[in-house]
Amino acid sequence: MVQYARPLARLVGEFEKLPGIGPKSAQRLAFFVLRQSEEEARALAEAIVEVKARIGYCRVCFNFTDREVCEICADSRRDAGLLCVVADPRDLIAMEKTGEFRGLYHVLGGVLAPMEGIGPDQLKIRDLFARLRENAPREIVLAMDPTVEGDATAMYLATHLKNLGLRVTHIAHGVPVGGSLDYTDPATLIQAFEGRREM
Ligand SMILES: [Zn+2]
Repeated sequence: MVQYARPLARLVGEFEKLPGIGPKSAQRLAFFVLRQSEEEARALAEAIVEVKARIGYCRVCFNFTDREVCEICADSRRDAGLLCVVADPRDLIAMEKTGEFRGLYHVLGGVLAPMEGIGPDQLKIRDLFARLRENAPREIVLAMDPTVEGDATAMYLATHLKNLGLRVTHIAHGVPVGGSLDYTDPATLIQAFEGRREM
């Protein structure tokens, strides 16, 4: 075991908790911070504290925002007749990067995963239906990752949404099977959006 001075061990330990960061990368990041100026290191620490203090969920779509209602929901130029349902705020960002989608979003906050105890009540599904009761769009576009859980979530939503007489489509699987929207390049995602099919 490497023996770090205690504050350094603490920083390495914190970096190791980050996704995709192993002990070696954690060490590299910690030593990078050590070499930074006091000012740069403080800016990093403050950015982390600020994001936790100021960012919350949009009360309409559950995207991350520093306002009560996010910029997308507040934008009257967006097409309220088109609602894209995504699992994660990162998927929303992926869709936005394409520049093709001009509708609104609903972020579920995950996908159904019964084995992990994630059922409809753990996601923003009830909020989605409440929202649809107030304002029914002409089309709901499901944009779930092509994974087992993503497909199951899309099927669940499609069944319930169609029962309400809503038109439901799913983006085409130009997105590689088992892949994630988040890692799909904008051009592929545009194709997937344009090739969306009825559910
Ligand atoms: Zn919003």
